[in-house]
Amino acid sequence: MSLLVMKFGGTSVGDAAAIRALSAIVAQHRREWEQVAVVVSAMSGVTDLLLRGAQTAAAGDAVTFGEIAATLRERHVAAHHELAGDAVIDPAIERFIDEFTLLCRSVLVLGEATPRALDAIGGLGERMSARLVAGALHAAAIAARAVDASECVVTTAEFGAAVPIYPATRERIRSTIGPLLAAGVVPVITGFIGATEHGVQTTLGRGGSDYSGAIFGAALDADEVAIYTDVDGVMTTDPRLTREARIIHTLSYAEMAELAYFGARVLHPRTIRPVVERGIPLRIRNTFNAAHPGTLVVRDAIADGRAVKAVTSIKQMSLITVAGRGMIGVPGVAARTFGAVASVGANVLMISQASSEQSICFIVPSTTTGAVVAALEEHLHQEIARRDVERINPRDDVVIVTAVGAGMHETPGVASLVFGALAAESINVIAIAQGSSECAISVVVAARDADAAVRAVHRLTC
Ligand code: ADP
Ligand code: ASP
Ligand code: MG
Repeated sequence: MSLLVMKFGGTSVGDAAAIRALSAIVAQHRREWEQVAVVVSAMSGVTDLLLRGAQTAAAGDAVTFGEIAATLRERHVAAHHELAGDAVIDPAIERFIDEFTLLCRSVLVLGEATPRALDAIGGLGERMSARLVAGALHAAAIAARAVDASECVVTTAEFGAAVPIYPATRERIRSTIGPLLAAGVVPVITGFIGATEHGVQTTLGRGGSDYSGAIFGAALDADEVAIYTDVDGVMTTDPRLTREARIIHTLSYAEMAELAYFGARVLHPRTIRPVVERGIPLRIRNTFNAAHPGTLVVRDAIADGRAVKAVTSIKQMSLITVAGRGMIGVPGVAARTFGAVASVGANVLMISQASSEQSICFIVPSTTTGAVVAALEEHLHQEIARRDVERINPRDDVVIVTAVGAGMHETPGVASLVFGALAAESINVIAIAQGSSECAISVVVAARDADAAVRAVHRLTC
């Protein structure tokens, strides 16, 4: 049995016209593959609206969430009418909007939006779009059924960034989706969401529908996972930054993982792991240019002679420096430093150590800086008292710019090209790291230099 899992992002389900394009793509692929499963995001902007409703309610605003409910109703009803043509809105969509209002009212009363409440509210967009898309496929004479991923993706209770638990997830996906596929029905599955083993709604993190696509692809032993978005595929850099960005035809899993990890929003960074483990090809394609073959991501990408394939940036980062004479050569200081960071659940994106300066510096998302510094002061209080650690310095407003390409470790001079490009634009490099994967070089620059740095490195290396 050949099986294709297709994930459609927010713009691909953003309005009736987009959903019509989606239906045509599904119809075409149903002729080419024996089985097709669809995973959908919320309509573009809807997740932001839902979360804003919750946050304003938590702040005591009793009005905004009502306005948001009206906007949500309008957008979904308009699309629904255009697609399904009948006057009555799908009762399921009405129900989810009522649920949104009800949940926001409770948040208002409590004066607090807990991570658990945010997940229950934030996940409603996918539940609505899945109904819309299933209805549209139906109207296009394709047998389809909306499925809530909370029925089958069993996750940890890490609200806002939940992780699937295996093998329960695989078993449930196979027993829920398998029979639909076998009956020739296209399951239209909500991306982004899951539930704990006790049935409490969770989400996989912003942009997590890509990850859902890979989770379903792997669990169903798909032959390919296709991520449909609003660009022709993965490009040499974010096309919003420069018109010089070009499409990349093939990438290795390792290259794609580095790109996604270091900020290429086109794919959620967790997407790669489930497909790598089963060697499932991943394709990134354009819903609005369906004839384009897109980017193929496989184990061994065809070498195209370029050392650097793409340049990315990841913003809103802080550089934290822990320095002091006792930093080097005293066992355990580094362990305690990173133990402190881990204790607050902060994600370290990059580490660089300079022995002459007797310091360790690392990058964390700015949202976690305050907590990280407080934890460092607590965990290292003995070293601070002994003056082994003399300062803990956070520097906000930095950005990581990364050049990615598997060919770079056997190509001399890539680093000098990167630094040359930055020097030519008088951009100061704050820190450097070469990824242990050997297919990435990262530099840290001030936030104000970010876009210029990406353009400069892109122009010289890609
Ligand atoms: P979706 O809603 O379909 O998941 P996203 O907005 O999350 O879409 O991701 C697609 C966007 O990613 C593109 O519109 C583009 O601006 C951005 N992007 C960033 N880096 C890249 C890149 N290297 N290649 C292609 N797109 C990129
Ligand atoms: N709708 C979710 C978000 O906006 C998930 C996704 O689009 O991938 O983050
Ligand atoms: Mg996305």
